[in-house]
Amino acid sequence: MSGRLEGKVAIVTGGASGIGRATVELFEAEGAKVILADIQDDRGEAIAQTSPNIRYVHTDVTQERDIKAMIDAAVEAWGRLDILFNNAGTAEPDAEMEYIGADVFDRTMSLHVRAALLGIKHAVPVMREQGGGSIVSTASVAGIGTNYGPVCYSIAKAAIMHLTKLAAVRLAADKIRVNCVNPGMITTAVFGRAMGLSQDEAEEKYDVLRQVSSFAQPLPVGGEGVDIAEAVVYLGSDAARFVTGQALVVDGGLTAGTPPDP
Ligand code: NAD
Repeated sequence: MSGRLEGKVAIVTGGASGIGRATVELFEAEGAKVILADIQDDRGEAIAQTSPNIRYVHTDVTQERDIKAMIDAAVEAWGRLDILFNNAGTAEPDAEMEYIGADVFDRTMSLHVRAALLGIKHAVPVMREQGGGSIVSTASVAGIGTNYGPVCYSIAKAAIMHLTKLAAVRLAADKIRVNCVNPGMITTAVFGRAMGLSQDEAEEKYDVLRQVSSFAQPLPVGGEGVDIAEAVVYLGSDAARFVTGQALVVDGGLTAGTPPDP
């Protein structure tokens, strides 16, 4: 049986860790050729070593020239670009409203919203020329509710949801679909950092974190990177050919409500 992404060329930003890494690995398993774009060179190179269908390209998504170079790398390596997953990011903490730093706001908007916008901008000419493509960005439940993350981060994720709709409508005639995924609590380094752990510590304490991450949601299991990767495979694949401008929430029921007391 052939994979769901057989013959497709994809880019995953933030592919060296967490949700991005799980997506790189699932994309590859489903038959795609994948550019893994990140700033963690050692981790990115190590993942690329596992398959000839994964290539690491150092990419700081806050730099427009890096984004352009990442798109060019896909075309140079494999002649096309079918799926762009704008996923790199972190949840930088901020403070009470009156103490929020403008620098945190600027960094957060740059890393999440500006990067996703520029990713779309540079993917469009390639996708239009080849007759279509799929762009997926990582938003968050923090872009929906008001108590799932820091203020600047939540604003950025809400902006990604609106960017998704704007781009979907403007690019539909070119058969370029644009959607986002909204993860809930997923056991990754971002979640570990929110608990005060380094990336290595978060990886060591993965099982504990997974348990903690499930405490507030209806489904009594912690979310994992692969749960988001599965949603991104669907949105990237031809199975989602009629889906554009949507936010796919993958959160164990978190935004649906609080489970009743047992
Ligand atoms: P992670 O820390 O495991 O992975 C994030 C990756 O992004 C890392 O490999 C990091 O090196 C990379 N990155 C950071 N800054 C970068 C930059 N400037 N250029 C290129 N790469 C950069 O965290 P994760 O949880 O997998 O996060 C992935 C996305 O999911 C983020 O956008 C995050 O906001 C979002 N998200 C996570 C959760 C969660 O619970 N983990 C929930 C909702 C949304």
